[in-house]
Amino acid sequence: MAHKIGDACVSCGACVSDCPLEAISENDGQYVIDADKCTDCGACVASCPTDAISAA
Ligand code: SF4
Repeated sequence: MAHKIGDACVSCGACVSDCPLEAISENDGQYVIDADKCTDCGACVASCPTDAISAA
């Protein structure tokens, strides 16, 4: 399993530095979580101002 960034994302990038595994990256303005790296630690959830990140 991995956390997911949903439609509420406004591409602010606030979550990127909060992931200890560097699983979050930006691609063409869309932020995505690499499911192969994410360990569902949840560290990124609180950093999102629009509550766009949730457990899958
Ligand atoms: Fe990174 Fe943890 Fe968020 Fe997964 S849940 S993307 S490991 S901060």
